[in-house]
Order: sequence, then C-alpha cells, then structure tokens
Amino acid sequence: MTMEATAQELDFYLFDELLTDEERRYRERVRAFCDEEVIPIINPYWDRAEFPFELVPKLAALNIVGGTIRGYGCPGMSSVAAGLVGMELSRGDGSFSTFFAVTSGLATTSIYQCGSEEQRQQWLPALAKLEKIGAFALTEPDVGSDASHVQTTARRVGDRYVLNGSKRWIGNATFADVTIVWARDEESGRVGGFLVEKGTPGFEAKPIEGKMTMRALINADITLKNCEIPESNRLAQAYSFKDTANVLKNTRYTIAWQAVGHGLAAFELAREYAVQRKQFGRPLASFQLIQQKLVHMLSEVTSMQLLTWRLGHLRDEGKMTEGMASLAKQSNSARARAVVALGREILGGNGVLLEHHMARHFADMEAVYTYEGSNEINTLIVGREITGIQAFT
Ligand SMILES: Cc1cc2nc3c(=O)[nH]c(=O)nc-3n(C[C@H](O)[C@H](O)[C@H](O)COP(=O)(O)OP(=O)(O)OC[C@H]3O[C@@H](n4cnc5c(N)ncnc54)[C@H](O)[C@@H]3O)c2cc1C
Repeated sequence: MTMEATAQELDFYLFDELLTDEERRYRERVRAFCDEEVIPIINPYWDRAEFPFELVPKLAALNIVGGTIRGYGCPGMSSVAAGLVGMELSRGDGSFSTFFAVTSGLATTSIYQCGSEEQRQQWLPALAKLEKIGAFALTEPDVGSDASHVQTTARRVGDRYVLNGSKRWIGNATFADVTIVWARDEESGRVGGFLVEKGTPGFEAKPIEGKMTMRALINADITLKNCEIPESNRLAQAYSFKDTANVLKNTRYTIAWQAVGHGLAAFELAREYAVQRKQFGRPLASFQLIQQKLVHMLSEVTSMQLLTWRLGHLRDEGKMTEGMASLAKQSNSARARAVVALGREILGGNGVLLEHHMARHFADMEAVYTYEGSNEINTLIVGREITGIQAFT
C-alpha cells in the first residue's frame, strides 16, 4: 500500500474539504518534506540522540517559520495552516517537530508578542529564515509546573542586567543563537524575558543525557552565573508572568496539533501493518479485536482534528481563551498517548523496534503529554476558567 492510498483512506470525514487551498498546500508541502527528507533518515539520529542539522536548510526552504505572524519575513498563514504544519511535522518526527516548535513557536512568538519594534526587526527576519535559531528557557530544576515562581534572577546594574540561576529541559539551547530566559527582576519582583545571545559569558548549556523520548531533540541544563546582557536585550513588553502565559496560550494551540500528528502516524502505520501481517493464516486486520482498536484510533484522530480545526478558527477570530487552548492541549495529548499505545500494541514485538517507526511515536508522545504544561496543569487551567476557582496554588 502506498502512503498516498493510506492518507486518502484516512480522511474518513473528508477533513480536507474544510481546508482552504492555501492550507491544503501547506499541509501537502510539509507532508512531502517529511515523507521524502525526514522519515527516511530520522531513526539513526533518534537512536544516537543526535540532532539532524542536515535538515535545517531544507526546512528553511519551506518558508513556514513564524507561522501566523505577518510581516518580518514570516509567512502570515492562517492558524489552521500553522496547526497543520505542526501536525505534519509530528507525523514525520516528534524531535524535529519540537525543534521547530521551540524556535518558530516559543522563541519567535515571545519576541513577536513581547518585544519592542526594534527587537522584532532585529530577530524575527533571521529567525524566519532559520539563519538564527531560538530557545525558550522557563523551566528550572526546582520549578516546573509552578512556572510563575521561577527563581532565576535579573539584577539591573547600570545599563546592563546580570542573570543568575539555572534552567532545565531547554530545547535547542546548546546551539541556539538566542535563548529567551524568563527571570525574576530583583527590583520589581516580576517575571521578565531576557534575550541571551550565543557565546555570552556566564551562560552554559549542557545536554541532558539518557532521554527515552524525543531523543533527536537536544534538551539542556543551563547555568547562568553572573551572565551580563545589555539592558536593550530585555523584552520590552514582557511585564509579568501574564505575558509569558499569553505566549504559552498560543504555543499550546500548536502542541495540540502535534498530538494529532503522532496519532495520525500511529493510525497509518498500524493500519498498514495490520493489513499486511498474517497470523493464524489471515491478516491481523481480519480479526475483530484488531479492527476495534483501529476504529478507536481513527475515531480519536478524527475527533482531535475537528476540535483543533475549530480552535484554529476561534484563534483567528481572536476568541481563543487560555482555557480553550489548554483544553485542546490536554485532551489531544491524552487521546494521542492512548492512540500510539494501541498502535504499538498492534505491531506486537515490531512495535518496540525503531525500524517500524511506531516505537518513536510511542516514546515521543510522552514528551508532548508533559511539556508546555503537563496534562494536570492544563486540566487545572480549564478548571479555573469554568469554575472561577484556581485549584493549583
Ligand atoms: C522533552 C522535553 C522538552 C522540554 N522543553 C522545554 C523547553 O524548551 N523550555 C522549557 O522551559 N521547558 C521545557 N520542558 C519542561 C516541561 O515544560 C516541564 O517538564 C513541565 O512543565 C513539567 O514540569 P516538571 O517536569 O518539573 O514536573 P513537575 O512540575 O515536578 O510535576 C510532576 C508531576 O506532578 C504533577 N503536578 C504538579 N503540580 C500539580 C498540581 N498542582 N496538581 C496536580 N498535579 C500536579 C505534574 O502534572 C506532573 O505529572 C521540556 C520537557 C521535556 C520532557
């Protein structure tokens, strides 16, 4: 069975008909890139825990970095198109998709939403072309879910800021040209965003080893020791953690699509395998229990797609609340996590082998489930919005 036939059969609810021509073009372009360039080479990188730098210029040529941002060399696509890009990249590979989500989503969005016009002009065109790579450093060794209580400090000394503290799990930070460090301003006590450029003395990023998820993404432990940056590198419009949360609201929207991509990949792989693999003299797909699993996977992927498509329209209309984004992130990642587990199951022993690709999606969904607000934290953000009561402090 060809990938084309699989994709066609998957579009069970004719989802493609909901898309504009432009959205469909973005989806097809990124799908072709993943089928031709990413999937054939990614497994050895994942196995060796190495980032596939060779793919970066090819990704840049797609002109998709910056997503919905208009101007500054960014593509200014619709929210649905930006979501489909995330979905297709994750259908290809989670590590590479998350490399993209960190630089194009977290870093670029922070500068766009919280930067001055000068900071936008300085960074966004280069980030859009992937001439510069971004990282986003919020999480700390002792501060994960409780992100508004970051302990890293920024002290103003003349026309400079001095940063001290540590960060953990920071994607791309070992090679990023700019890392957005979220730190507490010692003077105001509020959280602000600080642009730390590559090579700044006092900034050290060490790769985290032994990861069992997204192994081809490089995550780092960062130490900031009297790390001095010019005052002009403070994000001009990041006044408090509310501004950080507002960045996360928008990036969680695309993470919800990443989950769809992993679910989609798992469904396609499992369906193809079940049709071809024979046991008891018949294809696995002929057994009722296998069909039930495939149907459940399809039903979950279809629901995820429709929910996230609707959210994309709400986002473009300026109606997406923090709770709406969190609902999609937590619901889709929980569903996709169950879908990849069923897929792994359908492949039997081959489901734990990299060469069949399923194991990668199975492992990578663990990161999607936890980052950008764990399932619990996103659940509690929705809970706060529907009850008016904050349950997590
Ligand atoms: C692969 C990967 C990439 C990442 N990339 C980045 C990055 O680029 N930048 C960045 O800043 N961070 C990044 N992170 C960090 C990620 O955002 C955190 O791991 C996440 O926010 C959870 O924090 P924690 O791991 O410290 O878990 P903890 O906060 O210690 O939570 C542990 C468990 O307790 C639960 N929990 C915590 N508080 C509550 C509560 N009030 N009620 C109920 N349950 C609760 C959590 O849901 C979780 O299940 C990444 C993480 C991973 C795994």
